[in-house]
Amino acid sequence: MKATIAVLPGDGIGPEVVGKATELLSVIAEKHGHEFVFVEGLIGGIAIDETGDPLPAETVRICEEADAILLGAVGGPKWSDPTATVQPERGLLGLRQHFGLFANLRPVKTYPALVEHAPLRAELLQDVDILFVRELVSGIYFGERREQGDGDASFDTMSYSRGEVEQVANVAFRAAQGRRKKLCSVDKANVLASMRLWRRTVVEVHEEYDDVELEHLLVDAATMHLLTRPGSFDVIVAGNMFGDILSDEASVLAGSLGMLPSASLRADQFGLYEPVHGSAPDIAGQGTANPIGMFLSAAMLLRYSLQLEAEAAAIESAIDAVLADGLRTADIAGAGDNSVSTDEFAAAIISKL
Ligand code: NAD
Repeated sequence: MKATIAVLPGDGIGPEVVGKATELLSVIAEKHGHEFVFVEGLIGGIAIDETGDPLPAETVRICEEADAILLGAVGGPKWSDPTATVQPERGLLGLRQHFGLFANLRPVKTYPALVEHAPLRAELLQDVDILFVRELVSGIYFGERREQGDGDASFDTMSYSRGEVEQVANVAFRAAQGRRKKLCSVDKANVLASMRLWRRTVVEVHEEYDDVELEHLLVDAATMHLLTRPGSFDVIVAGNMFGDILSDEASVLAGSLGMLPSASLRADQFGLYEPVHGSAPDIAGQGTANPIGMFLSAAMLLRYSLQLEAEAAAIESAIDAVLADGLRTADIAGAGDNSVSTDEFAAAIISKL
């Protein structure tokens, strides 16, 4: 197959891990007889420096002409002045909105090889394999807000329409059908009107997926259940803010932020793929970043946008194999254990393909 991939390295460790991901994808292409064309664009802080705009029109054009987008990370101390008129994060939010990427998929898995260094007891972490589906372009982050002139009162609005809930619920139910057929919907239906609509709509959509078992949890209870019975969850669907918070909480289950991938999808095959972590300014330029979150994002790109399941699975197996061999980047090495550089770690994974 021939596919065009828009590549947006961004800031900090973004370019370090994106460079390794295009190497990995080139090897996949060569081994499986595909042709991937990478077209690079600016986003985030570096785009502000070079063009004054965190999402230049040229970058949007590159993405529009591509089959999928691969992104590193945006932001960093250089651009973090909250009073600045443009922020790097606007580049990412702009992309999500421009392409209507309403469903954010974040898989969280524990690796047997890493369990001994995890912050939770090993027995709680057996078989943790959760897929978060977070609504990404509505809810409280996009509702009406006002900061009153005197600074003494402000408000934000959490609002959802039936259609917005339906489309993300459909993504979550379909994902559950392809996995262990269990969906947990998280809301705050006991207090918030928008969340009562959320629950009613999820129940209605469930009628089309009677092979999937549906559970509802209030968000406060969900935070506890995630730590006390993480292995019992399959797919979790939540609104924008609750999904944001819960998926970050769950990232500790995987051992390091550097291990986690994400996909932001719309209803067709198009999507934006990026690691969950940010630009990690504290380790940028040191060649120590963990490329796994980025590599697993590339695997999701192959799976969801290009329908190349075997190729995606090959990347995941290569990562499992390298971890089982005992190789570690600094973020996942135990105290006193040796660690290797991004280059060595990425090369080891690529050589397993
Ligand atoms: P961060 O994810 O960049 O870093 C948090 C911690 O995790 C740091 O100690 C970092 O060294 C470590 N870490 C992250 N990724 C790693 C990797 N691949 N390998 C090894 N260690 C890794 O979050 P932060 O420090 O809160 O934010 C830094 C900047 O990134 C900020 O400007 C923030 O706005 C931005 N950010 C961007 C995104 C994005 O682009 N999607 C997401 C989150 C934060």
